[in-house]
Amino acid sequence: MKITRDFIRLIPKSELHVHLDGSIRPTTLIELAREQGVELPSYTVEGLQEKVFKKRYAALDEYLSGFAYTVSVLQDAESLERAACELAEDCTSEGIRYLEVRFAPQLHISPHMQIERVVQAVNSGMSRHQAEYNSGPRVVSGEEPPFHYGIICCALRMFHADFSHYFKQFSDVHRFSANKRLRGLASQELALAVVDVRDRFGLPIVGFDLAGSEAGYPAEDHIEAFRIAHRHFMKKTVHAGEAYGPESIFQAITDLYADRIGHGYHLYSENLITSPQITDKKRYVEELAQYIADRRITLEVCLTSNRQTMPHMKDWRRHAFWKFLESDLSVTLSVDNRTVSDTTLTDEIYLASQVFNLSPGKLKDIVIYGFKRSFFPDNYSAKRCYVRQVIDYYEKLELLESQRQLDAESMGRQV
Ligand SMILES: [Zn+2]
Repeated sequence: MKITRDFIRLIPKSELHVHLDGSIRPTTLIELAREQGVELPSYTVEGLQEKVFKKRYAALDEYLSGFAYTVSVLQDAESLERAACELAEDCTSEGIRYLEVRFAPQLHISPHMQIERVVQAVNSGMSRHQAEYNSGPRVVSGEEPPFHYGIICCALRMFHADFSHYFKQFSDVHRFSANKRLRGLASQELALAVVDVRDRFGLPIVGFDLAGSEAGYPAEDHIEAFRIAHRHFMKKTVHAGEAYGPESIFQAITDLYADRIGHGYHLYSENLITSPQITDKKRYVEELAQYIADRRITLEVCLTSNRQTMPHMKDWRRHAFWKFLESDLSVTLSVDNRTVSDTTLTDEIYLASQVFNLSPGKLKDIVIYGFKRSFFPDNYSAKRCYVRQVIDYYEKLELLESQRQLDAESMGRQV
């Protein structure tokens, strides 16, 4: 069977790494900016794509610059709920059946909106679309698997007072603390609040993440926050190995208890190892990769985003995904940011299938593994049942597609 874009769009998929603020629809951004008096460099979709959300970026800073606009318009509950609902809609419209949306609540806290309201707003948007989608006849009849979602809250590796109202106030209150201590304190405060909100309101907060600029801001500042999340049975995923090398991934797994790694691009980059204690770098990297493979720690790979944030990677042949596949690591494919990266999950999976020559069997493994390694917000039996339903549906579509291609071939021969 040949892998086509249409087939990828149809199959049930999971999206485990997508940022809400990086995925707001450009049309919604423009509308909210107009309503709220937020200044944008352009008020047309084409203008924004030309000036802010590009196909190619010169450097990471340029990639991150778009977030200032998207976060600015997401400072009230209605806007957050709308962005979440639209993201869920965009996802189900391309066959995503399980979605883990992530965002940094501290970027949205203000005097009018405490953390519980921030998370509740995102949850309301998600659950509104879930109710609508799951009442459709094909889901109700059991013909297609339903849509489920979970929420991941991100602590930030670093922040400035101008990031948000919360960070301004936090920096003022702790103005005598060293920056390093401050970063750790902010993420601890978040971890405590997130656990409280999850338990008090029964919200599907399934994971804790560490996001933001990696270079110069090590994960070790956030050990206590992740310990809090861990002690309260929250799953962990950590952005690591984007700007730092293998040691950052090691630290995410051992000190931050990461169940999954966001990106992990530099897992094999021996040249980025800095510790003088690691003398045999090749062996260190091999052992680390083996450890990740054995533990089935999943790497959330975002191809387009990698290419945009690492413009020096000119050629897909240089992407670590080749080695991930060779070493049989557990990998999933994700968008990172639908708007900032100007991509969809269908695009990302299709790109991977073409560039890395995925066989239909490998494609199926990766797609199903996404569901298996998700932080599903229900018990293990429910998750198993759901995964089974997804596999059955996938196999039905696979059979139909093979048949369709065979028919097309024989028609072609007859003609
Ligand atoms: Zn990310």
